[in-house]
Amino acid sequence: MRKKEKIAVYPGSFDPPTFGHLDVINRSLEIFDKIIVLISDNKNKNYMFSKDERFEMVKEMTKDIEKVSVENLPGLLVDYLKKKKMRIVIRGLRITSDFDYEFQMSSLNRVLYPKIETIYIISDIKYILLSSSLVRELISNNGDISKFVPPEVEKFIKNRGVR
Ligand code: ADP
Repeated sequence: MRKKEKIAVYPGSFDPPTFGHLDVINRSLEIFDKIIVLISDNKNKNYMFSKDERFEMVKEMTKDIEKVSVENLPGLLVDYLKKKKMRIVIRGLRITSDFDYEFQMSSLNRVLYPKIETIYIISDIKYILLSSSLVRELISNNGDISKFVPPEVEKFIKNRGVR
């Protein structure tokens, strides 16, 4: 009998995607057969990059990883999972700052959808202080982002220019 594929989703803003996100994706692929990166679009958030731009950047960054696909997340994560009959969610965890929020989110999601299981990939020490907000700060001030985002993402941002 063929073994069932183990698929997990990795939701996030990716505003913009960084080496930290890429590391979480690559390490998740050691556990799962396939990862679906979900680009969330929260109306209460002020993104620097549009939903389409964030989608495009993640797509570019993962173009050579065949077991990754990218999708937009139109509404609530739990609704997406229920519809697709999926239950595993990947999130990255950096120093203590992420913990409270992640604990709250995963607990809330379990109330809405008890089958959900959130798996945390502890950030690599190299990326523990790396965040999209830090990269956005650099972009706004014309700083060098090459050490923080993959070359495809840097290229995309250079071509787009600061708005
Ligand atoms: P969100 O707005 O949903 O938190 P982010 O794009 O900021 O979206 O983050 C998506 C996920 O990736 C979160 O679980 C976050 O903790 C994780 N993440 C972000 N940066 C890093 C990093 N440097 N190392 C590990 N995980 C990270």
